[in-house]
Amino acid sequence: MSEDLSFILNHLGEEREKYFHAVSPPVIQTSNFAFPDVASLQTAMQDEMGHHLYSRGNNPTVEILRKKLAALEKTEDALVFSSGASAITATVVSLVEQGDHVVCVRNPYSWTKHLLETYLPRFGVTCTWVEGDDLEEIEASIRPETKVLFLESPNTMTFGLQDLAACAALARSRGVITCVDNSHCSPVFQNPADFGIDLILHSGTKYLNGHSDVVAGVVCGSKELIRRIVDRTFLVWGPILGPHDAALMIRGLRTLPLRIQRSHENARFIVEKLKKHPDVEKVIWPFDPDFPQAELATRQMKGSGGLFSVLLRTKNKRKIFRFVDALQRFLLAVSWGGHESLIFPMAAVHDLPGRPDPAFPVNLIRFYAVLEEPEMLWQDLEAGLKYLH
Ligand SMILES: *Cc1c(COP(=O)(O)O)cnc(C)c1O
Repeated sequence: MSEDLSFILNHLGEEREKYFHAVSPPVIQTSNFAFPDVASLQTAMQDEMGHHLYSRGNNPTVEILRKKLAALEKTEDALVFSSGASAITATVVSLVEQGDHVVCVRNPYSWTKHLLETYLPRFGVTCTWVEGDDLEEIEASIRPETKVLFLESPNTMTFGLQDLAACAALARSRGVITCVDNSHCSPVFQNPADFGIDLILHSGTKYLNGHSDVVAGVVCGSKELIRRIVDRTFLVWGPILGPHDAALMIRGLRTLPLRIQRSHENARFIVEKLKKHPDVEKVIWPFDPDFPQAELATRQMKGSGGLFSVLLRTKNKRKIFRFVDALQRFLLAVSWGGHESLIFPMAAVHDLPGRPDPAFPVNLIRFYAVLEEPEMLWQDLEAGLKYLH
């Protein structure tokens, strides 16, 4: 772990002399703050996020978390939200007006897709979907009214990457603001600000908190852009993270480098085994040497973490469900980023009444491998795969 990272996670923002030298920061469970005189009240009102006025804006426990996240992403400032979805929505809406246009990488996280495909068009904001590995297509989609280039690298389920430096340079030359959903790598494995990306988003629910007990969101960026989000959406919508959840997240962050590194190693161990298994057609993991964008992955990411996908040879849903149901150690669940290894079969959401079929094939299974003994996880999978027959 680098010295910087250790300092940020263990000390930065923690002014222990203010709270009895307690090692863990206090949960400042208050909505409101009182002032000794009118002059200091006025000072706080002029810069709400830099003072403690009212907890819909800033709160001391939440502020410690914000400082750590900004430092982790090497940006000037950060905001935290009640969910990753609210961080994404509040950020994008703060950057567009009626008539504006967004360019977004195809197949992002499902609710990002919903925001751009269904929600924003109601307010006159349209979106063009692009292949993330085709810079020419991205360039051709940018119009005079394009305000945002929204990226997700690696993206959900298939882990397609975008060349962040090239995308940032292109967008900047056209006056377009870049956002990247960096949930998959966390700031430990990828710092989009190093490549010139303007705003970096996270589902804090995933690796950052890491214990499957908090739903949270994050955006990191320049003081100017964060200020714009505060003024245009954050204070008017009020999607705050409470101080107790912020304290849990500070606790979760302390072990982020250890957890994500272990997760990466466990994924590598299982990916190598699955690649040799006769029931597996293909394994998709950015740090696999056979991954089509492996060169870009190792250039812009320090690791990939525990998420990977598998295409099974069979497309028979009944057989796929039998395999998934037989697993004892991988829990069957959505989400990821916690302490528990997970499986999510795409077949579960094919032909579901009232739901559009997903853009992913029926034989795609997403795995999340994390803290457990890799040999135990592999034995579980190997035994489960027998149920395909
Ligand atoms: C989970 C997820 C989100 C949404 O975050 P929530 O905290 O669930 O609202 C956004 N982006 C990615 C890549 C995710 O995996």
